[in-house]
Amino acid sequence: MEILSTTEADIRRAAEALRRGFLVAFPTETVYGLGADAFNQTALACVFAAKGRPRFDPLIIHIAALDTLDRLADLSALTPDLREKAAILTARLWPGPLTLILPKRSVVPDLATSGLPTVALRFPDHPAAQELIRLSTGALAAPSANLFGRLSPVRMEHVRDQLGEQVDFIIDGGRTAVGVESTVLDLSGGIPCILRPGGVSRGSIETLIGAVEFPGTSGESKLVSPGLLKSHYAPWTPLTLHSPEAIAALPYTAGEIFLFFSPATRNPWLAEQTRQGVVPPPERIWVLSDSGTTLAAAANLFDLLHELDYLGVSCIRAEEAPPMELGPAINDRLFRASGSIRGA
Ligand code: AMP
Ligand code: MG
Repeated sequence: MEILSTTEADIRRAAEALRRGFLVAFPTETVYGLGADAFNQTALACVFAAKGRPRFDPLIIHIAALDTLDRLADLSALTPDLREKAAILTARLWPGPLTLILPKRSVVPDLATSGLPTVALRFPDHPAAQELIRLSTGALAAPSANLFGRLSPVRMEHVRDQLGEQVDFIIDGGRTAVGVESTVLDLSGGIPCILRPGGVSRGSIETLIGAVEFPGTSGESKLVSPGLLKSHYAPWTPLTLHSPEAIAALPYTAGEIFLFFSPATRNPWLAEQTRQGVVPPPERIWVLSDSGTTLAAAANLFDLLHELDYLGVSCIRAEEAPPMELGPAINDRLFRASGSIRGA
């Protein structure tokens, strides 16, 4: 495995490797992707193998030009209403952290879509990612560059530590900006439906195309999106998820880490602990967002979880984010990181 930079020469090398069937991990605005030429079945098989990802979990194909969408997806199979919604979303939110599920064309290998008649497409908002896609084959299958079920990578080091020699090149673009995966929106059925909350909020989508469905994270999902398993994005350290009310009443226990959403929720809790004569060590108390915004919290989420996972503590007690903006995406990741262990 070789680490590359985002210089043009390095991106050219990586693109050439992709064209020859090698795997290249690269930064996007969401998380690092494990890229393979979307038209190369052998390379696709290597992606599943490198991640230990089951073949029933389809890959998102990353493109870097709007006309590639027509090559890979059959928009004529949509109702006129959904076709117009797709056009609005791609015009307004691409490039960006929004993945669209659309009827697929036969040029997309079944391996990439796990045999589904639909394909997941995204146009990432990252110059190095776009350059890499354009200089390779115009379409890269790129799931998050982590081992299946584990924390998503938001730095080159996270990819290196998890995938090591399973990947041929990693392009180092520093920490990713958005920090959580794309929102996955299904446009292939009757009503647009959010299959995975992510970097684009439900509100931003609804402002543009009207009401969308969101079955939610915790309900027994119908498994409409095959990869959305209950346990996912998991640190090695056990993690429990608590509502703001529940974590406020939770006493500090030695050996645990408390991860609050913001100083506004941490401070009253700290004051209460002190009042009861308990002084939690500062290095055991963390906040996801100093500013209290869900945007900053999302950007910090996986980076912090990677860091906390190295501390060798017995448990991470995490507080839910407020349910607006990127809050649902954060809570989805925390919920799955907890393996559905909901704390008191
Ligand atoms: P990841 O590659 O880790 O970002 O996960 C991509 C997710 O996108 C998968 O786990 C699926 O849940 C979803 N996905 C990809 N393709 C499809 C599809 N054709 N239909 C529904 N969901 C999809
Ligand atoms: Mg993933």
